[in-house]
Amino acid sequence: MSGRGAPDTPGAEAEREAEQRDLRRAAEAGIHRLAVPTPFMVGRVNAYLIEDDPLTLIDSGPNSAKALDELEQALAARGRRVEDIGLLVISHQHMDHFGLASILARRSGAEVAALEPLGGYLAGYGRESELDDAFAEGIMLRHGIPAEVVTALRAVSAGFRAWGSAVEVTRPLSDGGELALRDRTLKVLHRPGHSPSDTVFLDEERSVLLSADHLIAHISSNPLLARPLGAEHDLAAPRPQALVTYMRSLEQTKEMDVGLVLPGHGRPITEHAALIEQRFRMHRRRAEKILGLIEARPRSAHEIAQELWGNVAVTQAYLTLSEVLGHADLLLEDGRAVEEEQDGVVRFAASGG
Ligand SMILES: [Zn+2]
Repeated sequence: MSGRGAPDTPGAEAEREAEQRDLRRAAEAGIHRLAVPTPFMVGRVNAYLIEDDPLTLIDSGPNSAKALDELEQALAARGRRVEDIGLLVISHQHMDHFGLASILARRSGAEVAALEPLGGYLAGYGRESELDDAFAEGIMLRHGIPAEVVTALRAVSAGFRAWGSAVEVTRPLSDGGELALRDRTLKVLHRPGHSPSDTVFLDEERSVLLSADHLIAHISSNPLLARPLGAEHDLAAPRPQALVTYMRSLEQTKEMDVGLVLPGHGRPITEHAALIEQRFRMHRRRAEKILGLIEARPRSAHEIAQELWGNVAVTQAYLTLSEVLGHADLLLEDGRAVEEEQDGVVRFAASGG
């Protein structure tokens, strides 16, 4: 579902060349990719250094000595140190993107900017992740994941938490607002779906979009089912529709006139509208496949995930569950599926037809 490397085909060489060309183009715009290691399946995360005043870093990498060490080396290669950073911008609430932020901010005295509703989440990171886990647990049980698997996954999640770290946002941003540096203005745009806080930053003058995990070239960004920001989510309330939200956000991005997209993982993107169209087709195909499964008989989201991904539906239970629920939402929206609840577990069924 993510992190699969591209096979080394004759096309791979051309792809690497294109990547180098696009990175040079970013560098000409004063934006430098610093790829920082993470312990996650997705591999490295891209932080972007913007040579401007203040010296700006978009995203930080996870909270680990290895990430810090490599980030420092990447900065040194550009003649910079952590202490030179004046502004740290956080794209969204995932720990591979903000985990090092508190250390970087403390050492540099940099301001920390993020979308306003994300501030509370980042400041209260420990408690917020507890609430996330409680939310995920409720969703997993309701959608057919066995209780012992849920318990095991909660322990795994608690173990991962240290890759993040609470950080104080000193410069809250608003959707549609601007982040002004000396030589450029970044337009701040909220594009929820992959997570509730996804924010992209547009340099209109240079036609560059910093897209973080909203749009990635080599993998489809998982629309992870997440607790709404800033809310004590009532578990009995309707669940958020991450994929529906995500596709609406992609629709907005597709309409944008952008020459170069710099994502949070992997290589730059130059044909964003075509890539988004490809994503739309993939999601529609997957929804059809799920419809086929529930036409045969009603199934829980977990049963559907097992049909589609086998054992991965257990080891990556929440991720695969989010995928299935996202696509089930598309079918529900179109009136082609219904939810049937029995003993607290939901099954999806094809609607009469
Ligand atoms: Zn993310």
